[in-house]
Amino acid sequence: MIFTVAIDGPAAAGKGTISRAVAKEFNLAHLDTGLLYRAVGAGVIAGGEALAVAKALDPRDLENPDLRTQAVADAASQVAVIPEVRAALVQFQKDFARREGGAVLDGRDIGTVICPSAEVKLYVTASARTRAGRRHKELTEKGFSTAFETVLAEVEDRDRRDSSRATAPLMAASDALTIDTSDLSIADAVAVAVKAVAAKYPVT
Ligand code: C5P
Repeated sequence: MIFTVAIDGPAAAGKGTISRAVAKEFNLAHLDTGLLYRAVGAGVIAGGEALAVAKALDPRDLENPDLRTQAVADAASQVAVIPEVRAALVQFQKDFARREGGAVLDGRDIGTVICPSAEVKLYVTASARTRAGRRHKELTEKGFSTAFETVLAEVEDRDRRDSSRATAPLMAASDALTIDTSDLSIADAVAVAVKAVAAKYPVT
């Protein structure tokens, strides 16, 4: 069975949570494509050259827990504007999307560039203030004392960079279902996504 769920949207909108829940519910493989760009960003921070790092990427590199930091997120969104870097990461994502057994991929350009033929396309979003509030809460819980305004500025900066780049900018595919999670609980947002996937899931 080939069945792809493409989930796009800006940072901290709830894509990751929704993707993991959908993957579990339908027993699909899951790829968080942001980790590819983060791994390249981390390689650049470590002194590598972006394209060389992208070409040499190993799937095991994605398991590094250090990829979750804000510094790596920023580096990721900087390397993500380089068309050659994106091109080097395309085939791995396309193969993953069409793997036997079905897959969920989340990112910025899955429904538009990586897998325009995905059976289900979701665009998960929320207001910048809501997303910054979630990030801020996460950081506070981890013991970091960052001002809300600083987090908001970082979220807005990354949105701007991701939406305005020439190659594969962040945008909803014309046939994507938009889920705005600003005023939804996690359970409700997951329920909307699961329902959308169930409607397209092949009956065996
Ligand atoms: O989703 P995450 O925050 O991990 O992504 C980090 C960065 O990687 C994003 O800000 C974006 O610039 C880039 N990215 C991308 N295309 C994807 C996934 C992530 O350009 N499909």
